[in-house]
Amino acid sequence: MTTPLASPASTDRVITVTHLRQWLLAYAERIFAQEAYLTDLDAAIGDGDHGANMVRGMRKVRDWLEHEGQQSADMGALLRTVAMTLISSIGGAAGPLYGAFFLRAAKDASGQQSITLAQLARICQGGLEGVQQRGKAQVGEKTMIDALHPAVAALAAAVETGQPLAGALRAACDAAQQGMEGTISLVATKGRASYLGPRAVGHQDPGATSAFYLFETALEMMDDGR
Ligand code: ADP
Ligand code: MG
Repeated sequence: MTTPLASPASTDRVITVTHLRQWLLAYAERIFAQEAYLTDLDAAIGDGDHGANMVRGMRKVRDWLEHEGQQSADMGALLRTVAMTLISSIGGAAGPLYGAFFLRAAKDASGQQSITLAQLARICQGGLEGVQQRGKAQVGEKTMIDALHPAVAALAAAVETGQPLAGALRAACDAAQQGMEGTISLVATKGRASYLGPRAVGHQDPGATSAFYLFETALEMMDDGR
Protein backbone atom coordinates (compact mmCIF):
# COMPACT_ATOMS: atom_id res chain seq x y z
CA MET A 1 0.00 0.00 0.00
CA THR A 2 1.41 3.34 -0.95
CA THR A 3 1.26 6.20 1.48
CA PRO A 4 -0.21 9.29 -0.12
CA LEU A 5 2.28 12.10 -0.35
CA ALA A 6 1.78 14.65 2.35
CA SER A 7 0.59 17.89 0.80
CA PRO A 8 3.34 20.44 1.12
CA ALA A 9 2.98 23.17 3.69
CA SER A 10 1.17 26.07 2.08
CA THR A 11 4.18 28.31 2.48
CA ASP A 12 6.18 25.90 0.32
CA ARG A 13 4.23 26.87 -2.80
CA VAL A 14 6.72 28.32 -5.17
CA ILE A 15 7.00 31.39 -7.31
CA THR A 16 8.69 30.45 -10.57
CA VAL A 17 10.68 32.54 -12.99
CA THR A 18 7.60 32.48 -15.23
CA HIS A 19 5.51 34.01 -12.41
CA LEU A 20 8.19 36.64 -11.94
CA ARG A 21 8.11 37.52 -15.63
CA GLN A 22 4.28 37.67 -15.58
CA TRP A 23 4.37 39.85 -12.48
CA LEU A 24 6.77 42.34 -14.07
CA LEU A 25 4.68 42.42 -17.26
CA ALA A 26 1.52 43.01 -15.21
CA TYR A 27 3.32 45.76 -13.32
CA ALA A 28 4.35 47.39 -16.61
CA GLU A 29 0.73 47.27 -17.83
CA ARG A 30 -0.49 48.82 -14.55
CA ILE A 31 2.05 51.63 -14.86
CA PHE A 32 0.98 52.31 -18.47
CA ALA A 33 -2.70 52.35 -17.43
CA GLN A 34 -2.03 54.66 -14.47
CA GLU A 35 0.45 57.01 -16.14
CA ALA A 36 -1.89 60.01 -16.09
CA TYR A 37 -2.81 59.41 -12.45
CA LEU A 38 0.85 59.14 -11.38
CA THR A 39 1.57 62.31 -13.35
CA ASP A 40 -1.28 64.17 -11.61
CA LEU A 41 -0.09 63.03 -8.17
CA ASP A 42 3.45 64.21 -8.94
CA ALA A 43 2.20 67.48 -10.47
CA ALA A 44 0.52 68.30 -7.15
CA ILE A 45 3.62 67.90 -4.95
CA GLY A 46 6.57 67.40 -7.33
CA ASP A 47 7.38 68.13 -10.96
CA GLY A 48 4.76 65.99 -12.70
CA ASP A 49 7.08 63.45 -14.29
CA HIS A 50 6.58 60.30 -12.18
CA GLY A 51 4.11 58.78 -14.65
CA ALA A 52 6.39 59.43 -17.63
CA ASN A 53 9.46 58.28 -15.71
CA MET A 54 7.91 54.96 -14.72
CA VAL A 55 6.44 54.41 -18.19
CA ARG A 56 9.82 55.02 -19.83
CA GLY A 57 11.51 52.48 -17.56
CA MET A 58 8.79 49.83 -17.61
CA ARG A 59 8.37 50.05 -21.39
CA LYS A 60 12.03 49.06 -21.73
CA VAL A 61 11.58 46.31 -19.15
CA ARG A 62 8.50 45.01 -20.98
CA ASP A 63 10.28 45.05 -24.35
CA TRP A 64 13.22 43.15 -22.89
CA LEU A 65 10.98 40.61 -21.13
CA GLU A 66 9.06 39.93 -24.34
CA HIS A 67 12.24 39.27 -26.32
CA GLU A 68 15.66 38.43 -24.82
CA GLY A 69 14.19 38.09 -21.32
CA GLN A 70 12.11 35.11 -22.37
CA GLN A 71 15.24 32.96 -22.28
CA SER A 72 16.25 34.07 -18.81
CA ALA A 73 15.74 31.21 -16.35
CA ASP A 74 17.66 32.72 -13.44
CA MET A 75 15.55 35.03 -11.27
CA GLY A 76 18.65 36.89 -10.13
CA ALA A 77 19.81 37.61 -13.69
CA LEU A 78 16.29 38.70 -14.64
CA LEU A 79 15.95 41.08 -11.68
CA ARG A 80 19.42 42.44 -12.33
CA THR A 81 18.49 43.38 -15.90
CA VAL A 82 15.30 45.03 -14.63
CA ALA A 83 17.39 47.04 -12.16
CA MET A 84 19.94 48.15 -14.76
CA THR A 85 17.18 49.03 -17.23
CA LEU A 86 15.36 51.21 -14.69
CA ILE A 87 18.58 52.89 -13.54
CA SER A 88 19.68 53.68 -17.09
CA SER A 89 16.32 54.78 -18.50
CA ILE A 90 14.62 56.74 -15.70
CA GLY A 91 15.95 60.23 -15.15
CA GLY A 92 14.13 61.07 -11.91
CA ALA A 93 14.70 59.94 -8.34
CA ALA A 94 12.51 56.88 -8.89
CA GLY A 95 15.00 55.28 -11.33
CA PRO A 96 17.91 54.80 -8.95
CA LEU A 97 15.51 53.99 -6.10
CA TYR A 98 13.56 51.25 -7.88
CA GLY A 99 16.89 50.22 -9.39
CA ALA A 100 18.28 49.78 -5.87
CA PHE A 101 15.26 47.66 -4.95
CA PHE A 102 15.67 45.28 -7.90
CA LEU A 103 19.46 45.20 -7.74
CA ARG A 104 19.44 44.11 -4.12
CA ALA A 105 16.60 41.69 -4.81
CA ALA A 106 18.66 40.29 -7.70
CA LYS A 107 21.56 39.57 -5.40
CA ASP A 108 19.38 37.56 -3.04
CA ALA A 109 17.61 35.73 -5.90
CA SER A 110 20.85 34.87 -7.68
CA GLY A 111 20.81 31.40 -9.27
CA GLN A 112 17.17 30.69 -8.30
CA GLN A 113 14.65 29.34 -10.78
CA SER A 114 11.87 29.33 -8.23
CA ILE A 115 11.44 30.65 -4.70
CA THR A 116 9.20 30.04 -1.72
CA LEU A 117 7.19 32.68 0.12
CA ALA A 118 9.89 32.81 2.81
CA GLN A 119 12.50 33.52 0.13
CA LEU A 120 10.26 36.15 -1.47
CA ALA A 121 9.90 37.86 1.91
CA ARG A 122 13.70 37.90 2.35
CA ILE A 123 14.27 39.13 -1.19
CA CYS A 124 11.78 41.97 -0.73
CA GLN A 125 13.34 42.82 2.65
CA GLY A 126 16.69 43.13 0.87
CA GLY A 127 15.11 45.29 -1.82
CA LEU A 128 13.66 47.61 0.81
CA GLU A 129 17.06 47.89 2.48
CA GLY A 130 18.56 48.74 -0.91
CA VAL A 131 16.10 51.61 -1.38
CA GLN A 132 16.71 52.87 2.15
CA GLN A 133 20.49 52.73 1.73
CA ARG A 134 20.15 54.71 -1.46
CA GLY A 135 17.52 57.27 -0.44
CA LYS A 136 17.97 57.40 3.35
CA ALA A 137 14.21 57.73 3.90
CA GLN A 138 12.41 56.21 6.88
CA VAL A 139 8.72 55.46 7.30
CA GLY A 140 6.69 58.66 7.68
CA GLU A 141 8.70 60.85 5.28
CA LYS A 142 6.05 60.65 2.51
CA THR A 143 7.93 58.47 0.04
CA MET A 144 7.67 55.03 -1.54
CA ILE A 145 9.07 53.66 1.74
CA ASP A 146 5.65 54.28 3.31
CA ALA A 147 4.17 51.62 1.01
CA LEU A 148 7.20 49.31 0.71
CA HIS A 149 8.03 49.02 4.41
CA PRO A 150 4.62 47.85 5.69
CA ALA A 151 4.23 45.50 2.71
CA VAL A 152 7.59 43.84 3.41
CA ALA A 153 6.73 43.62 7.12
CA ALA A 154 3.41 41.97 6.23
CA LEU A 155 5.21 39.38 4.11
CA ALA A 156 7.57 38.57 6.98
CA ALA A 157 4.63 38.29 9.40
CA ALA A 158 2.82 35.98 6.98
CA VAL A 159 5.86 33.70 6.86
CA GLU A 160 5.98 33.65 10.67
CA THR A 161 2.34 32.65 10.93
CA GLY A 162 2.53 30.10 8.09
CA GLN A 163 0.05 31.79 5.79
CA PRO A 164 -0.41 30.58 2.22
CA LEU A 165 1.18 32.58 -0.59
CA ALA A 166 -2.01 34.28 -1.80
CA GLY A 167 -2.94 35.27 1.77
CA ALA A 168 0.55 36.67 2.34
CA LEU A 169 0.40 38.70 -0.85
CA ARG A 170 -3.05 39.97 0.09
CA ALA A 171 -1.73 41.10 3.47
CA ALA A 172 1.23 42.79 1.76
CA CYS A 173 -1.06 44.48 -0.76
CA ASP A 174 -3.42 45.73 2.00
CA ALA A 175 -0.47 47.00 4.03
CA ALA A 176 0.99 48.81 1.01
CA GLN A 177 -2.40 50.37 0.29
CA GLN A 178 -2.77 51.59 3.86
CA GLY A 179 0.75 52.98 3.78
CA MET A 180 0.10 54.68 0.45
CA GLU A 181 -3.14 56.24 1.69
CA GLY A 182 -1.36 57.23 4.90
CA THR A 183 0.99 59.48 2.90
CA ILE A 184 -1.93 61.85 2.25
CA SER A 185 -1.76 63.29 5.75
CA LEU A 186 2.05 63.47 5.88
CA VAL A 187 4.47 66.34 5.42
CA ALA A 188 7.33 65.28 3.11
CA THR A 189 10.86 65.39 4.47
CA LYS A 190 12.56 63.65 1.51
CA GLY A 191 12.37 64.21 -2.24
CA ARG A 192 10.93 67.15 -4.15
CA ALA A 193 7.71 67.26 -2.12
CA SER A 194 9.79 68.30 0.90
CA TYR A 195 10.21 71.75 -0.71
CA LEU A 196 6.47 72.30 -0.17
CA GLY A 197 6.48 71.92 3.60
CA PRO A 198 2.94 71.71 4.99
CA ARG A 199 1.44 72.36 1.53
CA ALA A 200 2.14 68.72 0.62
CA VAL A 201 -0.41 67.60 3.22
CA GLY A 202 -3.62 66.41 1.58
CA HIS A 203 -1.83 64.81 -1.40
CA GLN A 204 -0.91 61.16 -1.88
CA ASP A 205 2.73 60.44 -2.67
CA PRO A 206 3.27 59.31 -6.28
CA GLY A 207 6.15 56.95 -5.46
CA ALA A 208 4.15 55.26 -2.70
CA THR A 209 1.42 54.78 -5.30
CA SER A 210 3.69 53.12 -7.88
CA ALA A 211 5.14 50.96 -5.07
CA PHE A 212 1.62 49.87 -4.07
CA TYR A 213 1.04 48.70 -7.68
CA LEU A 214 4.02 46.37 -7.30
CA PHE A 215 2.22 44.44 -4.54
CA GLU A 216 -1.21 44.78 -6.09
CA THR A 217 0.00 43.16 -9.33
CA ALA A 218 1.88 40.48 -7.36
CA LEU A 219 -1.37 39.55 -5.66
CA GLU A 220 -3.31 39.52 -8.92
CA MET A 221 -0.69 37.26 -10.48
CA MET A 222 -0.56 34.68 -7.69
CA ASP A 223 -4.12 34.82 -6.34
CA ASP A 224 -5.46 31.96 -8.40
CA GLY A 225 -7.00 30.07 -5.51
CA ARG A 226 -3.74 28.44 -4.40
P1 ADP B 1 11.74 63.16 -9.16
O1 ADP B 1 11.37 63.41 -7.73
O2 ADP B 1 13.21 63.22 -9.42
O3 ADP B 1 10.92 63.96 -10.10
P2 ADP B 1 9.94 60.92 -9.61
O4 ADP B 1 8.89 61.94 -9.77
O5 ADP B 1 10.02 59.88 -10.66
O6 ADP B 1 11.37 61.60 -9.43
O7 ADP B 1 9.74 60.14 -8.22
C1 ADP B 1 9.23 60.81 -7.09
C2 ADP B 1 9.02 59.80 -5.97
O8 ADP B 1 10.27 59.29 -5.54
C3 ADP B 1 8.40 60.39 -4.74
O9 ADP B 1 6.99 60.40 -4.84
C4 ADP B 1 8.90 59.49 -3.62
O10 ADP B 1 8.00 58.43 -3.37
C5 ADP B 1 10.17 58.92 -4.18
N1 ADP B 1 11.32 59.44 -3.47
C6 ADP B 1 11.92 60.62 -3.61
N2 ADP B 1 12.99 60.72 -2.78
C7 ADP B 1 13.05 59.55 -2.09
C8 ADP B 1 13.93 59.00 -1.09
N3 ADP B 1 14.97 59.69 -0.64
N4 ADP B 1 13.67 57.76 -0.63
C9 ADP B 1 12.62 57.04 -1.10
N5 ADP B 1 11.78 57.50 -2.03
C10 ADP B 1 11.97 58.73 -2.52
MG1 MG C 1 8.88 63.90 -10.29
